[in-house]
Amino acid sequence: MKKIPVTIPYFDDQEAENVKKILDSGWVAQGPEVSKFEEVISAHENVSYGVAVTSCTTALHLAMVSQGMSERMDVLAPAFTFVATTNAIVQTGAIPILVDICQETFNIDVKQIREVIQRDYQEKNGKLYNKDNENLLWGIVPVHEFGLCCDILEINQIAKEYNLTVIEDAACALGAKIGDAHQGGFGNTSCISFHPRKSITTGEGGMVLTDQAALAQKMKQLRTHGSTVSADARHAGKGFLLPEFPDAGYNYRMTDIQAAVGIAQADKLDYIIEEKRKRAEFYNGLIREKLPELVTPYVPDGYYHTYQSYVCMLDLKKLNLDSVAEGRKYRNILLQKLEDIGIATRQGTHAIHMLEYYKNRFGYVEQDFPNAYACDHLSITLPLYVQMSDSDQEYVIQAIREIIDKL
Ligand SMILES: *Cc1c(COP(=O)(O)O)cnc(C)c1O
Repeated sequence: MKKIPVTIPYFDDQEAENVKKILDSGWVAQGPEVSKFEEVISAHENVSYGVAVTSCTTALHLAMVSQGMSERMDVLAPAFTFVATTNAIVQTGAIPILVDICQETFNIDVKQIREVIQRDYQEKNGKLYNKDNENLLWGIVPVHEFGLCCDILEINQIAKEYNLTVIEDAACALGAKIGDAHQGGFGNTSCISFHPRKSITTGEGGMVLTDQAALAQKMKQLRTHGSTVSADARHAGKGFLLPEFPDAGYNYRMTDIQAAVGIAQADKLDYIIEEKRKRAEFYNGLIREKLPELVTPYVPDGYYHTYQSYVCMLDLKKLNLDSVAEGRKYRNILLQKLEDIGIATRQGTHAIHMLEYYKNRFGYVEQDFPNAYACDHLSITLPLYVQMSDSDQEYVIQAIREIIDKL
């Protein structure tokens, strides 16, 4: 049986050669290779500083705590995203306040950000406070879902009006642009992921990008237990005394082994994105021609989508289905039948308000965020990776055609 995974990382001999050098050097924890990797990635995204950490989840947490997010604060976040976005907020002690998304882009709906602010907050001395419990509205954590930037310019405008901090969850969006401007270049901190599901990988890994020198310094200190002496300086072998620890920090350090893989991967980044964009175009054509029951990903004018994932929606009308719940049943049967013949797919990502922890803690019901709910139930991620061939893609689309014809 032909097997088509949902994605596979793209390696050649360079990753192994780079790792061998690090192993031979005898220094495998965070050191000069991590600094090099930070320079390569921040230069690619046109941002001054990169702070490499163990994952995007820890990148988000580090960016949040180092800028003061904590208890008795509210933070706006999209209702449709990977659970790590809101988990990181919860871990700081702050309260995630969900905002619905646009079904077309899968990204947070900026109109609804303004509606939530007007409905639930009052202004005092240029800051917003929750009408119910007086919590400060601290910031917004928008997500560039699946590699498409959200409307970050409008979000920055709102943040300026109300004194909010913006932290971009760019886990999927390394290389994504609006016009010529890269994600991460919009004046906020942004957090990227190097998990194997993303464009390039270090096994696990993440990075915070920022233009602020003092903030980068603070994050570097907090990622290494709060130490005043960096791991780099220790690598240089200076001093036998233990450093000072002004803050109770974390161990969020990336290893030089991971960074060595990352540096080899970074060389391939532009190629990987371009190949995935071509393959996404190819899917678009095939779907338009053969599968009117699927809605292809929407890309607003001037936006450069990196297709971390290629996510379609089932068209309920074309399938004569009456409700989103029925659509979900149909979608799940379709995905099961694809899995049975060796084609791996996934739902896009999840509606946060329907996950057990969030449902129980905040008492959400399905219809609180109807767009997130619909995208949770009707989205389909098709396989996409550099090593795929035209005939692999045709095989996937043909298989879906045949299954739908029989259903
Ligand atoms: C993958 C992902 C994360 C988590 O990234 P890790 O590196 O696995 O921690 C966070 N947010 C979004 C939107 C993601 O897609």
